[in-house]
Amino acid sequence: MNSGSDKQGLSKQEVIAKLQASGITPTQQRIVIGRQLFARPQHLSAEQVLAMVNEAGEARVSKATVYNTLNLFARRGLVREVIVDPTKVFYDSNTGEHHHMFDVETGELSDLMPGQLCVSGSPSLPGHMQVVGIDVVLRVRSAPAA
Ligand SMILES: [Zn+2]
Repeated sequence: MNSGSDKQGLSKQEVIAKLQASGITPTQQRIVIGRQLFARPQHLSAEQVLAMVNEAGEARVSKATVYNTLNLFARRGLVREVIVDPTKVFYDSNTGEHHHMFDVETGELSDLMPGQLCVSGSPSLPGHMQVVGIDVVLRVRSAPAA
């Protein structure tokens, strides 16, 4: 996943435009992180983002910077935080509404296709509240052999 196919995903200019459109100052480190993250629809932990950025070798980025940047991107809606448990947070570059399946044995997070899982019913909300999103994480493991 290093040299060779560097033309995949967004160009540096496209990442800069995306950050600016969300009111984020495009520092070199944010651009490098954004290029890795927005390259395709994917679920990445902060550790994976850190490893990818360092592998790309375009800039030296600390772990703290990766965490801060991912938090900033999540607050501005550029990535979706999928919190499987407090120690396992994934950053999803697909910000469209969808649900997830988490394999508790392998630690793998995958998307559920639209229509595979439907949430029905709408609870009455207090006062001026409105629903801004519904996140379902289906937790699975391999079934015991019969
Ligand atoms: Zn997803």
